[in-house]
Amino acid sequence: HLVERGGTEVARYVPAMSEEVGQRLAMTARLRRAIERHEFRLHFQPIRQLRDSAAVAIECLLRWPQPDGGFVPPLSFIPLCERSGLIVELGRWVLREAAATAARLAAEGRGDIAVAVNVSAGQFDRRDLAGEIERLADEFALRRGALHVELTESVLLERPEQAMDTLRRLQRQGVRVALDDFGTGYSSMSYLNDLPVDTLKLDRMFVARVDVDARSAAICRALIALGHSVGLTIVAEGVEHEGQHRWLRENGCDQAQGFLFDRPRPFEETFAALGAGRGQGRIGDAQGR
Ligand code: C2E
Ligand code: MG
Ligand code: MG
Ligand code: MG
Repeated sequence: HLVERGGTEVARYVPAMSEEVGQRLAMTARLRRAIERHEFRLHFQPIRQLRDSAAVAIECLLRWPQPDGGFVPPLSFIPLCERSGLIVELGRWVLREAAATAARLAAEGRGDIAVAVNVSAGQFDRRDLAGEIERLADEFALRRGALHVELTESVLLERPEQAMDTLRRLQRQGVRVALDDFGTGYSSMSYLNDLPVDTLKLDRMFVARVDVDARSAAICRALIALGHSVGLTIVAEGVEHEGQHRWLRENGCDQAQGFLFDRPRPFEETFAALGAGRGQGRIGDAQGR
């Protein structure tokens, strides 16, 4: 191909391509090593009921700590893990940590709080996700419903029948499923009818200006009504300000997550800030850090 074209084209394209490929390979190798060396960590961010600020779940968010004390954000390595297939191994680790965390919550007397795990398309495709979750639930003696799964619409687009099958199995096992970043995909409405999911997470994009922008407000109101009309729970992502919080409460949104209530933190810190359980008094606002 390129080599046969000869001359300047080779000089122009080959180095550029191999540089990109080379960088990707190097990064993939770093990621593989990081998995082997158990360098990844999970942070946890509560999902709270708007009614009383009680935490109903904590979402696991991957962190790759670096020697300088910072961490590489998930969106800059997860796509590469998906491309290289490493997501299967990394995802397996996340699920196991999530199950261990759920067991720990139960041991600490907070079995009322579920652990939510983000799952990529590659994990849906290439292995038996429902079976794996079932085995983990057995191994860690988890109550039904102790684990939740979050997936984006892309998971459903790639292999719809297989995804449906997995979702039905998860639902039978009592695993609640949330559609993450809802509204940013392409076919949001068409599959809501028969999709076995329990929850819609309104993307941060819609929530950002919901209290100051009429269009955002109209979209959120419509998505809340749509979700409720088919029996789904609605969670607002990325709530940062009191104005958003008030709007969401006044407009019937069920649950929320965001920096106003909690930042993602290591387990101990998240656990310490959980507050009382459902119906045990109003908490959460006091922790707006
Ligand atoms: P997501 O599942 O939609 O997670 C929410 C993201 O929003 C998180 O970013 C969280 O830190 C951030 N966030 C939460 N509250 C606020 C807020 O009030 N304001 C703002 N500006 N941001 C907020 P993070 O941790 O960088 O994760 C990004 C994405 O990476 C996640 O989006 C998820 O799609 C993916 N991800 C994270 N962990 C995993 C994992 O274990 N497996 C897979 N497959 N994907 C993961
Ligand atoms: Mg999520
Ligand atoms: Mg999300
Ligand atoms: Mg998101």
